[in-house]
Amino acid sequence: MAITKEQIIDQLRLVNDPELHRDIVTLNMVKHVAYCDGHATIKVELTTPACPLKETIQRDVEQAVRALGPEIVEVKVDFGAQVPQSPQKKAAQNNPLPGVKNIVAVGAGKGGVGKSTVAVNLAVGLARTGAKVGLLDGDIYGPSLPTLLGLAGRTPEVDGKKIIPFTVHGIQTMTLGALVEAEKPLIWRGPMAHSAFSQLAVQTRWDDLDYLIIDLPPGTGDVPLTMAQILPLSGAVVVCTPQRVAQDDARRAVRMFQQLDIEVLGVVENMSYFVGDDGKEYDIFGKGGARQMAEELGVPFLGAVPINMALRANSDAGNPTANFTPGTLAQELEALVKNVAGQISVRALEGAYAGPQISVQ
Ligand code: ADP
Repeated sequence: MAITKEQIIDQLRLVNDPELHRDIVTLNMVKHVAYCDGHATIKVELTTPACPLKETIQRDVEQAVRALGPEIVEVKVDFGAQVPQSPQKKAAQNNPLPGVKNIVAVGAGKGGVGKSTVAVNLAVGLARTGAKVGLLDGDIYGPSLPTLLGLAGRTPEVDGKKIIPFTVHGIQTMTLGALVEAEKPLIWRGPMAHSAFSQLAVQTRWDDLDYLIIDLPPGTGDVPLTMAQILPLSGAVVVCTPQRVAQDDARRAVRMFQQLDIEVLGVVENMSYFVGDDGKEYDIFGKGGARQMAEELGVPFLGAVPINMALRANSDAGNPTANFTPGTLAQELEALVKNVAGQISVRALEGAYAGPQISVQ
């Protein structure tokens, strides 16, 4: 008897999203099924182009459809991606950034742990997967994006009351560093910090974005409070180095986000280890400390970025794109990007998925 599309859809009901533990038909990820003479084509829509589970889903779909029998000669899985708007965004009233689907803060308990470096590479890495990404330099006390993105000396164009973001390395970006004289001390009292951050966030004319990454100032000061008041966040990423003292500060950052009712997407261990010319891995600061801390706090561990001379040099040269030249560093950064995107998707889908809508032809 000839295989029908309905049979294929029933088989797809056996394929679970590995993180959500629900089948991909119920999750409304199967958008289209076509079948002709042993050739099945299935269109699966992911919730991020940076999906960490793409290969697993592809393998499971193939297996499930082939289980229908030897008549199946080919299973083609076409992936598309549509980043959903975060539940926080949907629920927010007076949302000042309606064109931005997900806002993600990158914070750290203290300075110098590589928070800005992680924020930049997260933004550039997400954009490299095909997502539309913005990066806001929320560190109004010590903006480092002019250096890290090679913006030094550039001033943004203004259109009426809106500032046009720069477009560099595939992302849109804005920083206070491009609006004030370089090296001018930036001293803000509480209300002024509130106003500086909100103007920068809200008066920048972001195009439609899948993700807006915010590089926060280190610590637990005024800016995260303002941010939590004015922007509906999908979550926050906490950057930490492996040492015990760094973890104490990072714990405070995690708790701060939790108190502000911002979901902690997870912890990143930066300067995790060093690979010497001899190819050996040296755990200078004691690799694994941040992972253990994440486990203790019950938040996900998102990845480890090694101490890497090229990363430091590319950062100083304002060329983060070079960090994605194939190699160990690129692999670690890409894994981090996928894990963060995965955490955002899981949270967006959990409890917020629509009923099935499949077109059959
Ligand atoms: P923070 O934002 O936490 O203050 P930065 O991201 O500005 O820290 O990083 C501080 C310095 O450390 C920068 O010079 C940066 O290039 C360097 N750096 C950060 N992470 C790494 C790393 N994994 N390997 C080498 N250098 C790094």
